[in-house]
Amino acid sequence: MTTIAHRDADALALRLDEARRDYAGLKDRGLKLDLTRGKPSPEQLDLSAELLTLPGGRYTALDGTDCRNYGAPSDGLRELRDIFAPVLQVPVDQLLAVGNSSLELMHDCLVHALLGELPGAEGRWADQRVAFLCPVPGYDRHFALCARFGIDMIPVPMTDGGPDMGVVEDLVRSDARIKGIWCVPKYSNPDGTCYSDETVRRLSAMETAAPDFRIFWDNAYAVHHLDGEAEVGDILAACREAGHPDRAFVFGSTSKITFAGAGVAFFGSSPANVAWWRANSGKRTIGPDKVNQLRHALFLKDTDGLRAHMRRHRGILAPKFAAVDRVFSEQLGDTGLATWTRPKGGYFVALRVPDGCARQVVRLAAEAGIAVTPAGATHPHGNDPDDRVIRIGPTYPTLEELEQIAYGITVCVRLAGYERLTA
Ligand code: PLP
Repeated sequence: MTTIAHRDADALALRLDEARRDYAGLKDRGLKLDLTRGKPSPEQLDLSAELLTLPGGRYTALDGTDCRNYGAPSDGLRELRDIFAPVLQVPVDQLLAVGNSSLELMHDCLVHALLGELPGAEGRWADQRVAFLCPVPGYDRHFALCARFGIDMIPVPMTDGGPDMGVVEDLVRSDARIKGIWCVPKYSNPDGTCYSDETVRRLSAMETAAPDFRIFWDNAYAVHHLDGEAEVGDILAACREAGHPDRAFVFGSTSKITFAGAGVAFFGSSPANVAWWRANSGKRTIGPDKVNQLRHALFLKDTDGLRAHMRRHRGILAPKFAAVDRVFSEQLGDTGLATWTRPKGGYFVALRVPDGCARQVVRLAAEAGIAVTPAGATHPHGNDPDDRVIRIGPTYPTLEELEQIAYGITVCVRLAGYERLTA
């Protein structure tokens, strides 16, 4: 909870006056800045410029496949899966390189579970009332998928080590409608949380009323470190050892490694789930874009090459996250109006403002020319019941723009916060 340090009425009135003056000054700057989505910056995309010259004249994969043509391997190129298997913690034979976006794979898993039967299922999800657990704050597009398919969303609070497992265990044990949980296990969107070993163990071991319960393990930020190199437990191994081998679907992509939207996505799971995936997706597509996979494999070379590439991203991103933290600390540090995360990886900072103020902060920012992700986007149906969390994505703007944006947001936090305190 955010604590409010200044309760003295006169002091508050002075602070409000000051915030009003600063806000007027902010508006006078005529800014036009955008912080709405967590996209890689052009400078980051330039790190992968060589991809545009690859695969050069070459078109054969290591196994001799002519990548220009239809045909095997429909699981994706082995050389690319070899690079990503260790970082996604999936045995290479159970890891498929398919599609250009992990979100489409999550979408397809839901569609196939709705229209067909998952291994272990007693029926199609389309014939049942289905609910998913949604750790909050979380990723808006996960929630949008549930909304799209009429899947009920049950919010679960996040803790420092992942979703509150006591709540999760109670819910899944007693309610057979609950078929899944969204998890962003490393540097979660937007809190930057890494799941603890205890969380991984309990997720894999818990009893679920639904026999076809699935963990949607969206490892979008598996190698996206800013400080240190966090490790998260191996969910597939943990599920197998706990006697629930088919429980987890693992997703990842190169969206924030090479080119967002023009990369490669990965799906990994148990042998039974992988066979289920192949059977379903084999109807949907003749095969993935092998030319793109080939150029990715040639560009990244091996897992060490991938890690070295990510260190270059870190060189660009770490100063941006540091700038946000510095400006927030300077401007809000002694106000008691806000707390924010200091993630060690990933793409986001979660800013928490006094209850009931997040929408107002975003509105004030918009009126001052700073577009911020709508408040509430971090919760199912866009509804943060406390109206408290704002997602900050520092990656895209330049450092100079980011400093202006961060400062502008702090002005809006002070104005909204002091207005509320003096109301
Ligand atoms: N998963 C999470 C947690 C994300 O934050 C994002 C993008 O912001 C994605 C998935 C999208 O990944 P992709 O481009 O592979 O669909």
